Amino acid sequence: MVRNILVTGGAGYIGSHACKALKAEGFVPVTYDNFATGWKDAVKFGPAEEGDLLDRARLDAVFEAYRPVAVMHFAALSQVGEAMTEPGRYWRNNVTGSLNLIEAAVNAGCLQFVFSSTCATYGDQDNVVLDEHSVQAPLNSYGASKRAIEDMLRDFEYAAGLQSVIFRYFNVAGADPDGEVGEFHRPETHLVPLMLDAIEGKREALTVFGTDYDTPDGTCIRDYVHVCDLVDAHVLGLLWLQEGKGSRVFNLGTGSGFSVREVIDHSRSVTNREVPFQIGPRRAGDCTKLVSGSVRAAEELGWRPTRSDLGTMIADAWRWHQTGHYDK
Ligand code: UDP
Repeated sequence: MVRNILVTGGAGYIGSHACKALKAEGFVPVTYDNFATGWKDAVKFGPAEEGDLLDRARLDAVFEAYRPVAVMHFAALSQVGEAMTEPGRYWRNNVTGSLNLIEAAVNAGCLQFVFSSTCATYGDQDNVVLDEHSVQAPLNSYGASKRAIEDMLRDFEYAAGLQSVIFRYFNVAGADPDGEVGEFHRPETHLVPLMLDAIEGKREALTVFGTDYDTPDGTCIRDYVHVCDLVDAHVLGLLWLQEGKGSRVFNLGTGSGFSVREVIDHSRSVTNREVPFQIGPRRAGDCTKLVSGSVRAAEELGWRPTRSDLGTMIADAWRWHQTGHYDK
């Protein structure tokens, strides 16, 4: 039996790794992507359908053509800096787009939904362990748009029986160790690939966004998860829904936080090269510290990250960085 999964954003960084993991589990990942930030070259594990989340007729046609058993929804604008200056794009693309997708899924009778949410929905909460019960108080429209979609999923569960697994990601890094897919944003805004660019001399120096935070070394602290571990959790989430276990929220983080300076230090030792960096001002919208205190994914889903130590993540990212890229 063909088990199609509609993967929005399947041409993006996390979506492309998810497609690989889905294929390995015997599913057919059907990528739905507008290729605004995704790459045709990254769609390697199933069919691609070009389309925008704002195009409801196109979504309906794709649901009709493939009759997916579930949706994995990765497609989103996801940059904190941009979200601060262009909130309209974030609300329209992320929230209106997701509403279209959810309505199209419900209309097609596709009632299993795995959603990429974010720890940015929590906002800044000093010395509070961020578990799934933590208050959600996002600092930027990116986090706010994701929180709104979480609320939307709950409303559609009540009204239409939509079952969802919501994953609140912490910071995703690393790349497929086989080198088939990896992180490739244009423009790049994320810490690890920017740092690797600086090491390779592809840009002048990394700018550290603020050294006056209330952390031991003054730089922001984040909880980094390997993209392969992250997408493994998505497959477990899908199986959870298929087993009829119902809607659930899971944090995906390791519980260990690293400052920007610590990431720089690890990169120096993994690559054996100097990391050129300069100190800059804070970036608007950044939280001081985002670390997952959650054990729910481990206990309930049986999620066991195997590559999420910082050294392995940076080594995998570095290998991809030196050899992998997409042309279109
Ligand atoms: N960061 C930085 N310089 C950069 C990009 C990011 O200092 O050029 C910091 C940023 O302030 C944050 C951390 O690195 O504390 C991770 O940022 P990223 O954009 O990778 O992910 P986010 O936390 O926004 O999801």
